[in-house]
Amino acid sequence: MAADTTVPSTTDLMGPKPVEAYLDSKIPKVVQPSKLPFDPEALKCRYIEERDKRSHEVKARGGLNQFQLIETDGPFAKYLRDPWVEPGFTRDALSDEVDVFILGGGYSAQIVAARLLDKGVTNLRLVDKAGGFGGTWYWNRFPGAQCDVESYIYMPLLEETNYMPTEKYAGAKELLAHSERIGHHYGLYEKTLFQTEVESMHWDDATSSWTVKTNLGDKIRAKFVIPCAGPLHRPKLPGIPGMERFKGRAFHSSRWDYGYTGGDSAGNLHKLVDKRVGIIGTGATAVQIVPHLGRWAKELYVFQRTPSSIGVRGNKPTDSAWAASLTPGWQGRRNVNFNNLCNGIRESEDMVSDGWTDILPDVFGQMDPKLSPAEAAALRQLVDYEKMEAVRARCDEVVRDKATAESLKPWYNVMCKRPCFHDEYLQTFNRPNVHLVDTGGKSLEGVDETGVLANGRHYPVDLIIYATGFEHSTSFAHRSNMELYGRGGLTLTEAWRHGPRTMHGYTTRHFPNCFFIHNIQATLTPNFLYAASETAWQLGYVIETCLEQGIKSVEPTAQAEENWVQTILQLAEPRLKFLAECTPGYYNNEGAADLAAARESGYGGGAPAFMKLLREWRAKGDMEGMDRRT
Ligand code: NDP
Repeated sequence: MAADTTVPSTTDLMGPKPVEAYLDSKIPKVVQPSKLPFDPEALKCRYIEERDKRSHEVKARGGLNQFQLIETDGPFAKYLRDPWVEPGFTRDALSDEVDVFILGGGYSAQIVAARLLDKGVTNLRLVDKAGGFGGTWYWNRFPGAQCDVESYIYMPLLEETNYMPTEKYAGAKELLAHSERIGHHYGLYEKTLFQTEVESMHWDDATSSWTVKTNLGDKIRAKFVIPCAGPLHRPKLPGIPGMERFKGRAFHSSRWDYGYTGGDSAGNLHKLVDKRVGIIGTGATAVQIVPHLGRWAKELYVFQRTPSSIGVRGNKPTDSAWAASLTPGWQGRRNVNFNNLCNGIRESEDMVSDGWTDILPDVFGQMDPKLSPAEAAALRQLVDYEKMEAVRARCDEVVRDKATAESLKPWYNVMCKRPCFHDEYLQTFNRPNVHLVDTGGKSLEGVDETGVLANGRHYPVDLIIYATGFEHSTSFAHRSNMELYGRGGLTLTEAWRHGPRTMHGYTTRHFPNCFFIHNIQATLTPNFLYAASETAWQLGYVIETCLEQGIKSVEPTAQAEENWVQTILQLAEPRLKFLAECTPGYYNNEGAADLAAARESGYGGGAPAFMKLLREWRAKGDMEGMDRRT
């Protein structure tokens, strides 16, 4: 196991200033607009116009209310079913007592388990409702699924498991197999209950322990609990009228039915050759699926409300000479380099050199300190326009039909939505069987027995694929389908009724010895697993210290928690202004970039600064801000 030395770097770790709202900023005198290859005023008007198209509807239907949340006992429950196991699994209930209970069997849960095992904390129990390890990559096996952050930094514990990904962007099968590899390497299979859903976790002050109850009747006592459910875990459906009436086949992208389509995550969807297919949504998931559907479906209708920005991907096989040249600690160094560049911190080398590090260092980069904040914001906006102009130009270069190319152009700032990178998505719209149905920012009008209604027209289809994303800002209890009962029976839903309250994102008052792995009030970086890995060092340190020193419970003091919430809110303010200028999406709470969204946000000082803060906290060694009971 690599040592906890992944972050220190000679570069400036201050991080960029929080992103200012800049669409509305005045162009500084240092720039002569007439010399720019685009008209910033015209672009600004277009961005606002496009945002407002969507915002009108969001206001009418109310943010998250536009979606159809899936209830386990509701009419859409079938969209949650696990397609990768036989139904009806049973086993004897288990009564268990462990040091640490981990909810989840995805990469982040495995990283935490690995860190703890490495520290000699071996009495662990993991539970996952899935039939195996993999988390995101257990569920998401759709055709074309690949990591959209480079495998060499995204796939965790590569050095520890002595594995080198086959490609710069590994595919779904390889990503899932790596999770299984980690499971075997660390002996996690013996410690994990699969096909088991946690229903509740109750804290008991008298015994300073949690009791975890599952749907199979298990009762697990644990000194510490770590929910690692994943930030985008529970699928959501759009609230399109009539969806339940559809008589053809329909599923969510994260529950792919290869029995119906044929093929597997590598493609070959041969059973679709005589089928008309509709895919709803054009986010990062759909961008990976559409090329495969286009290749195999008789007719494909891509229902688009807002286009994604599609940069160059440039996937390639791993260069074996490069792999052989790597020296111990390489994965951590590469992650630091990527994380710094994505946060606008200068590095002498761009190790990853991909779409992220092409865009983000320029957009978030440090500006001349002589510039006023307003001038810096205006310059960032110009850089942003330039980057997005290149994305829009690519639509014209690749897509032959001019109207289709025009509809595929995104009119918003780079980080309003997650940027996508693909080398076959735009090309797919040149196929005669592929039809873009652009609703111009409107939701689809309906679904009936035989197809989809949009733009006043009926599109008959045999299969509907909902690539409509995952719950993001709903309650923790809904997202994870279980409730946490802290001190005195207080539920997390109640404690967080006005939004999350934490110290450093991972620990919350009245819920002692419960540590979250998520990005809420923690860190934001394109590579969530790097953030998870850094938080895992923190949890490992806290748990090891408690076990060594006989500390029975830890939780933040009321003051420390309040201070952190205030820090989050203050730093979120400029980002909220930025997000308010964006077209709605899950980044801005579907157009409601308000105080509740601010509480859900990450630490606005930048990921490197957040990680430095955690390291310094550990180095002080006094668990500052924590109530400890022995
Ligand atoms: P998103 O939430 O990004 O996209 C949902 C899509 O559904 C959007 O295009 C949205 O349109 C559309 N939609 C929702 N409701 C309606 C409606 N009523 N009518 C019409 N369209 C509708 O979900 P994804 O699953 O694509 O991606 C989620 C995240 O998962 C990504 O941001 C990324 O972080 C991650 N991901 C990572 C991958 C990887 O690592 N390889 C691959 C895929 C995803 P609109 O934009 O107008 O709201």
